[in-house]
Amino acid sequence: MSAVTFTDASRSYPNSPRPAVDRLTLAIADGEFLVLVGPSGCGKSTTLRMLAGLEPIDGGTVHIGLTDVTSLAPRDRDIAMVFQSYALYPHMTVARVLEVAKLLDLEEFLDRKPAKLSGGQRQRVAMGRAIVREPKVFLMDEPLSNLDAKLRVQTRTQIAALQRRLGVTTVYVTHDQVEAMTMGDRVAVLKDGLLQQCATPRDLFQRPVNSFVAGFIGSPAMNMLACTATERGAEYGSMVVPLTPAQRLALTSAAVTVGVRPEAMLLGAEQGLAATVVTVEELGSDSFLYCTPVEHPANVVVARREGLSSVRAGETVILGPDAAAVHLFDGATGDRLPDRAT
Ligand code: ADP
Repeated sequence: MSAVTFTDASRSYPNSPRPAVDRLTLAIADGEFLVLVGPSGCGKSTTLRMLAGLEPIDGGTVHIGLTDVTSLAPRDRDIAMVFQSYALYPHMTVARVLEVAKLLDLEEFLDRKPAKLSGGQRQRVAMGRAIVREPKVFLMDEPLSNLDAKLRVQTRTQIAALQRRLGVTTVYVTHDQVEAMTMGDRVAVLKDGLLQQCATPRDLFQRPVNSFVAGFIGSPAMNMLACTATERGAEYGSMVVPLTPAQRLALTSAAVTVGVRPEAMLLGAEQGLAATVVTVEELGSDSFLYCTPVEHPANVVVARREGLSSVRAGETVILGPDAAAVHLFDGATGDRLPDRAT
């Protein structure tokens, strides 16, 4: 059993106005790959270091399996950290090293000095170093940040596959939401030391609990339209999104944020938002249109189209959200409003 449980766990650095990690409650299942993600300074590394025992815990508890490790020394926690560094442990048996080297496709490099290894090979050595220890939990802090874009994609697939084969509970820190979404069984989104939401990648994408998570997950980011609630609905220029009675009731003011992902921002709607196409990004498999609404010229609304775009920069389009894919948030608190009953 090597589940990891944070219960109301906090860490405040001396002379800091607010906790770096604030009453974190999070249960990570045995064998799960859990990714901690969020912008720089949100408390990801501190959370990992609290689990590792490298940072004291000022309040609450941390358990590994049934053991309360809150005040145990790092060496007594049975965890292994994967850093970007690559020193190997010299005291392992040759058989074990060979076995792990085979697992990681590193056999032919066993007698090579680290300096003669590529970035990807060094990364696998760092993984190997953690694996040979057979820990209860792997901790990884931005392990791919030194690799170039292509190698990152390759290595993230390898790490995720390896973790699933080994079945060792893993806590992985990254600021990159794509890495988080592609690797994690579940993803925990942090902001200002506070856990916002912990869910499967699919749930995070489909039902973000607030406008922060909605804007953080997905690329290009979800369009966030600052609307006003009127008797017609949530209005943004000439675009109106209907509101249910339950949604109106939940609002704390007239401010509503309508969230529309680029793929749900449709073109050629009869009624909608007139906008000027400013830039067209053609990626081959899809295109992104960056548009400024005529009535809100300071804002940019992004619409995704499949394949190459027939629309050019300078044209005027009518944008309308796919009503079934709209996310509604309280404009003041950012909280998700109740979903429309289906
Ligand atoms: P992340 O890993 O998400 O970038 P960190 O956990 O490193 O964030 O930091 C969380 C917050 O704690 C930040 O505001 C950071 O400035 C602060 N912090 C981190 N380490 C220390 C430290 N040793 N002393 C004081 N403040 C720190």
